Amino acid sequence: MLNADLHCHSNVSDGMLPPPELAARAKANGVELWALTDHDEVGGIAAARKAAGELGLRFVAGVEISITWAGKTVHIVGLGIDENDPGLCAGLESVRGGRLRRGREIADQLEQAGIPGAYEGALKFADNPDMLGRTHFARFLVEAGVRPNVSEVFANYLVEGKPGFVPHRWSTLEEAVGWIRGAGGRAVIAHPGRYPFTDMQLDALISTFRDLGGEGIEVVTGSHTPDQYDSFARVARHAGLLASRGSDFHGPAESRVDLGHLPPLPAGLMPVWHDW
Ligand code: AMP
Ligand code: MN
Ligand code: MN
Ligand code: MN
Repeated sequence: MLNADLHCHSNVSDGMLPPPELAARAKANGVELWALTDHDEVGGIAAARKAAGELGLRFVAGVEISITWAGKTVHIVGLGIDENDPGLCAGLESVRGGRLRRGREIADQLEQAGIPGAYEGALKFADNPDMLGRTHFARFLVEAGVRPNVSEVFANYLVEGKPGFVPHRWSTLEEAVGWIRGAGGRAVIAHPGRYPFTDMQLDALISTFRDLGGEGIEVVTGSHTPDQYDSFARVARHAGLLASRGSDFHGPAESRVDLGHLPPLPAGLMPVWHDW
């Protein structure tokens, strides 16, 4: 099967590497079809496409859009988008707004928990300050010696019920799918195993997503356990959704799964790239 890796992040959002270094790493790791999917931002696409072209690596323009659904944050990946589409660009700009204000509130909470200087500390890790996010705070908390690594931080801070969590209203499912489709792309539910939903809620998310024209779901991702590859393969078959595969790579020191280092999709699935 084609080694497709259709989910990763550059330093244009919360990844550690610039787009050309990601392209080189994908190529070196044997990736044959590669997408860059920064959070709420397409500013890295041109550099990624150019670098991939020079390496002879097939490239797909992507984005990972933050939405709020049933009161929780969900991510929708768009693949094969025209990154210059005005509707998509305006939509993404509206999603990015408010991250600095939210960052101030996160820092206020951390200060009350006895950790000063988090706003400036997190900003130092954000190469693109517009995209200041929890990953940058997590890196600051590691640097400050609060926890030894980013996963330990997310087990104790920055998530619901812990210090440094600020509820945020992102875009809606309808908006995100609409922007992606309007830009000629295919919408995919990112890492479905990561959401705190009941089976009924997940069914409702999938059925609304399909009604809106959503087409795919991630099955094999760095955010799933091997058990979840099989359970979400069943979900994809049952719902008639195209299956996607992506490492969700953020950086060499941080990510469990490297670019291209994933098992193949389970049998009996239609890959999201089947007609590309
Ligand atoms: P934000 O968009 O600012 O809310 O940040 C979300 C990002 O935080 C995700 O894209 C991940 O990169 C990171 N993240 C969230 N939860 C975890 C976790 N449990 N472990 C590692 N990284 C996480
Ligand atoms: Mn991220
Ligand atoms: Mn995500
Ligand atoms: Mn991601």
